[in-house]
Amino acid sequence: MDRRIVVLGAGESGTGAAVLAKKQGFDVFVSDFGKIKDVYKEILYNYEIDWEEGKHTERHILNAQEVIKSPGISEKSDIVIAVRKKGIHVISEIEFAGRYTQAKKICITGSNGKTTTTTLIHHMLRKAGLNAGLAGNVGKSFAMQVATENYEYYVIELSSFQLDGMYEFKADIAILLNITSDHLDRYDYNLQNYIDSKLRISRNLSEDDFFVYCSDDEITIRELERIVTKAKQLGFTIKENKQQGAYIEGDSMKIEVDDDVFEMSLAELALKGKHNTYNSMAAGIAGSVLKIRKPIIRESLMDFAGVEHRLERFIKVHGIEFINDSKATNVNSTWYALESMATPVIWIAGGTDKGNDYSELTDLVKQKVKALVCLGVDNSKLHKAFDGIIPEIADADSMKDAVQAAYKLGKTGDVVLLSPCCASFDLFENYEDRGRQFKKYVREL
Ligand code: ADP
Repeated sequence: MDRRIVVLGAGESGTGAAVLAKKQGFDVFVSDFGKIKDVYKEILYNYEIDWEEGKHTERHILNAQEVIKSPGISEKSDIVIAVRKKGIHVISEIEFAGRYTQAKKICITGSNGKTTTTTLIHHMLRKAGLNAGLAGNVGKSFAMQVATENYEYYVIELSSFQLDGMYEFKADIAILLNITSDHLDRYDYNLQNYIDSKLRISRNLSEDDFFVYCSDDEITIRELERIVTKAKQLGFTIKENKQQGAYIEGDSMKIEVDDDVFEMSLAELALKGKHNTYNSMAAGIAGSVLKIRKPIIRESLMDFAGVEHRLERFIKVHGIEFINDSKATNVNSTWYALESMATPVIWIAGGTDKGNDYSELTDLVKQKVKALVCLGVDNSKLHKAFDGIIPEIADADSMKDAVQAAYKLGKTGDVVLLSPCCASFDLFENYEDRGRQFKKYVREL
């Protein structure tokens, strides 16, 4: 049988890839080692796609010309090893879907800020009246949209796992936000492997395309010489360094693309904090490259509502502001959260630690944090790092207790910040569950 495609993993991206492959006339088979969710089974059934769950049957898989692997499936799993041994080409859903659309693609990667920046750019494109889809890790899969929609633009969030399975895919605008160590467990604890994976976003760019990067990011700058790209390079910085791209001048951010200059006061940006200035700059550059009118760029950067669980300022109770930053699952994102706080902080942190080095936070913590509520099954590492540094430390093993403890420690004018620095799996289903529980118990105060 020729033109057979096997999809490993039937989640959002795998199911989307299967539907697109079917529509393109391939013989498609989907195999998931776990249980497939009912919503996805229904889609597979509707499109008459064969599938299996709870196993990987080699004779149905190793006869494929190409395998589309979901990002969650490890290279070290038996089936991927067998597929590789057979010499079958393994790609990601994004690579596959990229073959079947002529749409312009704005792609965003980085260790932190991907979802925020992707959503912000999409917001801008929609405001400009462009027919744009939002894809990647957010919402419906790219492949499903290519199969069922007719967008002229896609704004696509790309994780390093997705980038690993990409070869011929080409972005029109590739944005690399930053590179800090995260997910090292998936890269044999080798930072260079993770960096190389992020840099894949610049593959195949032509002279008509754009590579947008943070010129304050040490690792990016160090690697820039190695990135062979014909694309126009546009940097963004929060220093007063005039350059093509974006930079600061006084209280304003300036975006310069070719000879066109856009200026906007920092106070007008909807998203606060240094990290978000970077994100707004990246979005503003994308808008300028796409020649979106300046008033629309300005308006989008001013009225963007933000994304849930990312420094989400949602309520004040008796003069104490509560901020949900549940998505902060590593030290770097919490660093930016603390950095952006202007009033005394009662900080809720903890969870499953991915090898954190809390010393990077010590200076900021000394300046900003008046109390810490440790929320995790094992809080010993937090205590070790901050006992004697933060005046008051409490322990909690449920979100309800943590919220109540934080509330007791606070007074008018303080901020309670949930920015855990850690993954959520010890006490919660995922970071969304953690953020929702936080908001629920705050509302009950
Ligand atoms: P990602 O999709 O890359 O995980 P998100 O936009 O979901 O990024 O944000 C994740 C966390 O990182 C949030 O806590 C957010 O406040 C923080 N963050 C957002 N943008 C940046 C940035 N440019 N640099 C560092 N941290 C950031």
